[in-house]
Amino acid sequence: MEQKIPYKIYLSEEELPKQWYNVRADMKIKPAPLLNPATNQPVTLEELSQIFCTELAKQELDNDNAYITIPEEIQNFYKMYRPAPLVRAYFLEKALGTPAKIYYKFEGNNTSGSHKLNSSIAQAYYAKKQGLKGVTTETGAGQWGTALAMACSYFDLDCKVFMVKCSYEQKPFRREVMRTYGANVTPSPSETTEVGRKILEEFPGTSGSLGCAISEAVECAVTNEGYRYVLGSVLSQVLLHQSIIGLETMTACDKYGIQPDIIIGCAGGGSNLGGLISPFMGRKLRGEADYQFIAVEPASCPSLTRGKYVYDFCDTGKVCPLSKMYTLGSGFIPSPNHAGGLRYHGMSSVLSELYDEGLMEARSVEQTAVFEAATKFARIEGTLPAPESSHAIRVAIDEALKCKETGEEKTILFGLTGTGYFDMVAYQKFNDNLMSDYIPTDEELAKGFANLPNV
Ligand SMILES: *Cc1c(COP(=O)(O)O)cnc(C)c1O
Repeated sequence: MEQKIPYKIYLSEEELPKQWYNVRADMKIKPAPLLNPATNQPVTLEELSQIFCTELAKQELDNDNAYITIPEEIQNFYKMYRPAPLVRAYFLEKALGTPAKIYYKFEGNNTSGSHKLNSSIAQAYYAKKQGLKGVTTETGAGQWGTALAMACSYFDLDCKVFMVKCSYEQKPFRREVMRTYGANVTPSPSETTEVGRKILEEFPGTSGSLGCAISEAVECAVTNEGYRYVLGSVLSQVLLHQSIIGLETMTACDKYGIQPDIIIGCAGGGSNLGGLISPFMGRKLRGEADYQFIAVEPASCPSLTRGKYVYDFCDTGKVCPLSKMYTLGSGFIPSPNHAGGLRYHGMSSVLSELYDEGLMEARSVEQTAVFEAATKFARIEGTLPAPESSHAIRVAIDEALKCKETGEEKTILFGLTGTGYFDMVAYQKFNDNLMSDYIPTDEELAKGFANLPNV
């Protein structure tokens, strides 16, 4: 018998997950190992520990342990803003006139405004435990930098953020939130690192990119005693921490007898999607259940749908380990007209492998269609979504409208990763009818592929 499903399902504190789930343990084909760019050999724990905190390097290399205990300090921090609600989108279903049941897991209920706090608090915890002075990182749109600044201030760690220059200038309030939490924010490329000076010399006046900011942050970490580099997406350790999203969702679904048919998430580097789907994918991999998983990416930065599955650099300066992933090439920079986030050239190696095996699908969507969905969602469900999250909303609405045509009563679940208050310049463009779509040509993509490493 179907129970009446509340508009919002909140788990109790006792029901919160005490372990993260590592989907790699259940994958028959493991993601390809990270390679040392100097030797093209799999990176060792020792090598990785020079860049990352040792415990995080261990998690990065762990393909075997399915469950990893969440340290109590992190569990306690999670209680400040978790559980995140699983919302039944009754209003949206009604407005669309669809027989589909729509659910979303909302991760925007914290000051960083996104799911990124789930991993930043874990990374800051391990840095503190190792006795480090601080951490360095990059941020594009600013959510990750904000999440990391919050986590570092909680553990009293120094936090150095290299912020992509165009965002630094366009999003002064994001910058101020980070500074309010005590972080040191530098626009990238900067004169403070060797790689930054080199990039500035080669491309004077550049507005920066994520790949370039990563190179600066890594250099800053390895040249400063007591510092390590941390990254908010793409890495397998980040997917692991983000599994808290999927674990909470699965507990809530099981409690109310909700069986999702389709699970949708936006994909930049893959951390929220990987975190949301991990436990469900685990069931699929173990043959216990089946789900349709859909990754949604911008048509202007289509790493899964048009990229190549090869080893590539994770950063422009080519200092990070090589990762086998769906990629557009580390030199790829999305068109400046692209306003909706999700700009990274590559994709999580875990998701890349699952996609390559046909266990997950991918779709690309154009930004005007994304902002139409975002606006509709804001007006109907109340929450002003982040542009990134709105990629998932777009496809959830499309799938619900398909159900309306076929009469199928599918259950659709998507990840609503964050809120869009700091993205009002993008909304303004849309509201003023000044937003357009840009889809790179094959020739433009070929330029990015031309510089792939020969591995
Ligand atoms: C960073 C971010 C994303 C994309 O990153 P993933 O690692 O692919 O999850 C999506 N939504 C929001 C709100 C973000 O801040």
